[in-house]
Amino acid sequence: MAAGQKEDYYELLGVEKTVTDEELKKAYRKKAVQFHPDKNPGNKQAEENFKKVSEAYEALKDPQKRAAYDRYGHAAFQQGGPAARGSSGGAGGFHDPFDIFREVFGQGGGGGGAGSTGGIFEEFFGGGQGGGAGGPGRGSDLRYDLEITLEEAAHGAEKEISFRKLGECAHCHGNGAEPGSKRTTCTTCRGAGQVTTSRGFFHVRQACPSCHGSGHRFEKVCVKCSGEGRVNETAKINVKIPAGVDTGNKLRSSGNGEAGAGGGEAGDLYIVIHLKEHEVFERQGDDLFCEIPIKFTLATLGGTIHVPTLQGKAALKIPGGTPSNTTFRLKGRGMPHLRGGAHGDQLIRVQVEVPTHLTSEQKKILEEFSRVSGDTEEPMSKGFFEKAKKFF
Ligand SMILES: [Zn+2]
Ligand SMILES: [Zn+2]
Repeated sequence: MAAGQKEDYYELLGVEKTVTDEELKKAYRKKAVQFHPDKNPGNKQAEENFKKVSEAYEALKDPQKRAAYDRYGHAAFQQGGPAARGSSGGAGGFHDPFDIFREVFGQGGGGGGAGSTGGIFEEFFGGGQGGGAGGPGRGSDLRYDLEITLEEAAHGAEKEISFRKLGECAHCHGNGAEPGSKRTTCTTCRGAGQVTTSRGFFHVRQACPSCHGSGHRFEKVCVKCSGEGRVNETAKINVKIPAGVDTGNKLRSSGNGEAGAGGGEAGDLYIVIHLKEHEVFERQGDDLFCEIPIKFTLATLGGTIHVPTLQGKAALKIPGGTPSNTTFRLKGRGMPHLRGGAHGDQLIRVQVEVPTHLTSEQKKILEEFSRVSGDTEEPMSKGFFEKAKKFF
């Protein structure tokens, strides 16, 4: 690890990114005991390590902070970092309802150098905390894997998707109170909505567990959600798929993840794109590739063929004397760039097909052709037989 770069929190604690809360706690305890200043009197390195593992644990034990760390790395906890939601400045695209994630992700994710390229997402999405235990705050982010056709990716599409999630309780509008129930000041935090706890060197301010940070409570909890503010539901949303997306692209749908506990902010929904295989075309970045058989007479004499493209048929001129496996390029007939502007190209490789069932007339003509051709050698054969001479 380069000097000055902050160490990865997971590595500091010696755990995998998929670690459960329970394992995390155990790993931290072990390290804390190992480096504790009482056990290592006068050992500056141990003290330093103790501070580091404590800091790592403080960040990872909080589901919200952990999710932010998984997403943005240490940048999540810097002033004005990408995790600072809601501010109008900073990361430009953040308020797009559907936001191509690849770029945003490129900056933050790799920071820790933990090695697992692309894996960050899976772990991050796996972290759905069950209601209640995680306490207050923002709802979990959700992942939805969406399979689309190449045509949909080329032209853009709108799709309705449905999925199960914890949504806001309609009966109490997410505040957890039975409608009409009287509101009182929370006795735990005396209305502040926050409580401060001390752990080792740290004073941690967190949302009040009794009132989920709202500072008040209700006499009667909602009968539909038992005060949780959330209920299991099937959500249906329309997803706008921008032209040019490819497998692995993530679209973010703000606020369409799980509802927050106690009326907290909703999480986001991430739609991960998967392209179905296409019968004709193979995608290579923004280019489309296909193979087309042509008659040997056409390859010899030249002519024009019609080839399929995503925009319909296109004419392709085949010059006389075209060998098999020649690749032609149709400019601008490939996939659109995700960010607009130009298109990729379509590449067409022709396969010269040798006829297998000849009529007697065809055979006669070809035999005649062969006879008049005599020993005339084409450049390719000529080159070969020249080299092969010494073997005969
Ligand atoms: Zn309710
Ligand atoms: Zn409270």
